[in-house]
Amino acid sequence: MKKKISVCSFCSATIEEVERLITGDGAAICNRCVQTCHNMVLLDKNRNVAPSPQQNKQTEVHLPPPSELKKHLDKFVIGQETAKIALSVAVYNHYKRLRSKTNSKSAEKSSENSVEIDKSNVVFIGPTGSGKTLLAQTLARFLQVPFTIADATVLTEAGYVGEDVDSILVRLYQAAEYNAQAAERGIVFVDEIDKIARKAANPSITRDVSGEGVQQGLLKILEGTISAIPPKGGRKHPEQSMVHINTRNILFICGGAFEKLDKVISKRIDSGSGMGFGVEVVSKSDRKIGEVLSRCEPEDLISYGLLPELVGRLPVIVSLDELDEEALLSILTKPQNSLVKQYTKLFDMDSIKLSFTDEALKVIVKKTVEQKTGARGLRSVLEKILMPYMFDVAKYRELGTIKIDEDVVKEALAKGRG
Ligand code: ADP
Repeated sequence: MKKKISVCSFCSATIEEVERLITGDGAAICNRCVQTCHNMVLLDKNRNVAPSPQQNKQTEVHLPPPSELKKHLDKFVIGQETAKIALSVAVYNHYKRLRSKTNSKSAEKSSENSVEIDKSNVVFIGPTGSGKTLLAQTLARFLQVPFTIADATVLTEAGYVGEDVDSILVRLYQAAEYNAQAAERGIVFVDEIDKIARKAANPSITRDVSGEGVQQGLLKILEGTISAIPPKGGRKHPEQSMVHINTRNILFICGGAFEKLDKVISKRIDSGSGMGFGVEVVSKSDRKIGEVLSRCEPEDLISYGLLPELVGRLPVIVSLDELDEEALLSILTKPQNSLVKQYTKLFDMDSIKLSFTDEALKVIVKKTVEQKTGARGLRSVLEKILMPYMFDVAKYRELGTIKIDEDVVKEALAKGRG
């Protein structure tokens, strides 16, 4: 008969010293060692060990060519042609680069494969509500990659009150349903990047925990680092085993309104460094802000207060146009999930046919332009107009139709003012 083992074969603890001793064929393991082994396996899983071909398949992104990516953007985003093209190309190149990396890992190393393609993070410059977030979000959804939005203004340096930059990765990891490998191929949209610009007029009297410090933190994750984050999100605490996320292959798209950046660009152009072949000379007063912004160069972002190293990691600079009345009108009705279509569907669920006259839509657009919040303001204007109808749904269900004309809009907006 076999002798009963009463000592853990791993740590030599006796059966009396532990809560549980699991015995097998010629060996035993205690509950503490089981826990330690479990943690080690988890850590390996999340550490950046080369993924197996099977894992690669699971996280591989279906990659249509840039023209197809743009076509998809066209369904949801009105105008912003230059931005759509630039983003489609940047995103295509990014995932192509990842694919070539995966392939070259499994293939034998040849001299051709040893060419490392740099990541092309993107920076969007454009007024609020012009579609910066929408562009990034729409592509991420199309490619079915994890996506998260971070607000640069709430970030602070690690150790200070507020969220540190690692919180961005926690959210991306959550968006990836706690799959570290999928998160490592995700897209992060960092909004309001302009608000963490260094203030030239304010040479650090106190520590600049929300400006330059955050830029340094962002730079680290943009460049590529391995960050340890808590396995189920939440706060870090010392005894926890961490998940490791490598940020090297995460695509960062930064966005900001960059108010007054046009002045910085104009100054450069006027000082002569912007002159040259292909740069037409336009008198100062004739320059439109959008046109000026489209000439933004990395040096302008540095003059604006972004760290040169950070700008160096944002090679694709794209400006977005301010949306005019015509664009806003299209946004109301044309995109696949336009606001008018959304509200029509909402009322349709109550068997009410909602319709707007062209004149009504024009007044809505005019009011939105006044608010200077871009397309973002359309929803709140519509909410204000439709609120009484949504409240009195029982009455309108009986009537079966709601027609919103110019007078209804004007009356609702006048009430809102009072
Ligand atoms: P921002 O430029 O401030 O990031 P968003 O992309 O968040 O603006 O836009 C806010 C909302 O306005 C979007 O959810 C979308 O409904 C609408 N919107 C903005 N720009 C466009 C656009 N070019 N085409 C269609 N809808 C737009």
